[in-house]
Amino acid sequence: MRDLRNDGVPLHGLRVVLLAGGAGGSTFAVGLRDVVVAGGGSLTVVCNTADDLWVHGLRIQPDVDSMLYGLAGVKDPVRGWGRAGDSDRVSQELREWNLGWDWFALGDLDLGTHIARSSWLREGAGVGGVVHRLQERWELGARLLPMTESEVDTLVMLDEGTIHFQEWWTRHRAQREPRAFANPGIESARPAPGVLEALAEADVVVLAPSNPVVSIGPIVGVPGIADAIRGGTAPVVGVSPIIGGSPVRGMADVCLRVVGAECSAAGVAQLYGARDGGGLLDAWLLGEEDAAEAPRIEGLGIRPVVTPLWMSDVALTRALAADALAAALTLG
Ligand code: GDP
Ligand code: CA
Repeated sequence: MRDLRNDGVPLHGLRVVLLAGGAGGSTFAVGLRDVVVAGGGSLTVVCNTADDLWVHGLRIQPDVDSMLYGLAGVKDPVRGWGRAGDSDRVSQELREWNLGWDWFALGDLDLGTHIARSSWLREGAGVGGVVHRLQERWELGARLLPMTESEVDTLVMLDEGTIHFQEWWTRHRAQREPRAFANPGIESARPAPGVLEALAEADVVVLAPSNPVVSIGPIVGVPGIADAIRGGTAPVVGVSPIIGGSPVRGMADVCLRVVGAECSAAGVAQLYGARDGGGLLDAWLLGEEDAAEAPRIEGLGIRPVVTPLWMSDVALTRALAADALAAALTLG
């Protein structure tokens, strides 16, 4: 395999499309952006919007904002979401009014973003237009697109009723066992402007190490997106969000259990499936801890690539992104 880590293999003009959620997705996107831009290519990120919700009349886009703040270099590095150095004076004030949810923190700087977004939405800008305006503020080095302009929620069906994904995840810490996840209305959603064009023109498509069920799942659930990936000419490479049988951070293990998938690198590869067999993947990056699963992945018709998957710092994340590109270019 070509070593893109150090030898500066030119990626001139290479058009890369990344499908991603919030925390894992934005961490990976920063490394991928660095490698792609340094090599002279371009990056388009298609972001999950099924986590979006209305709070106090404001539209909040958790994954889009993680991506925006991450690429802009203003994300809180410790929490992994929200703005670095944020305060919570507005949230404290709302509590005095008995408003607000103590389980859903909204920082003051973050609220500025939500107010701007909500104003533009009310002025009639579509979600794509709003995401475009948000990213104009910073030099992201990448183009950010929402998966769709339609309001599609991820709902969690519990025995005691149905709640929004954010409530289940943030308030209940995924402790209540779901019966199912649903994205009502997704069958009539359309890909946001630019998404199908980006996929059609892509030289490489990458699936970020994001939650397969509630981050990547809704993106490829928007009619037309999976077909564009499957039928496109670009090789598709994914990065396992599961390392050593564990979801690293977050609660992807619960999500995988609900959809009947195994919480392992091979289990997620199987969930996505081989592009040859009507799935999504040509190649799959799995951790050294999971090297024993490589033959199983090969048996699925997906090329396994064993490499360090920990995104502990930017250098390691860039190296991982370079490995993903190298895997894709070797296939192409
Ligand atoms: P969310 O939308 O904020 O939940 O974030 P994503 O869906 O984009 O990413 C969450 C996933 O990132 C988790 O399920 C983890 O499995 C994965 N993840 C977090 N840190 C790492 C890491 O260092 N390496 C890899 N490979 N995956 C990670
Ligand atoms: Ca998310």
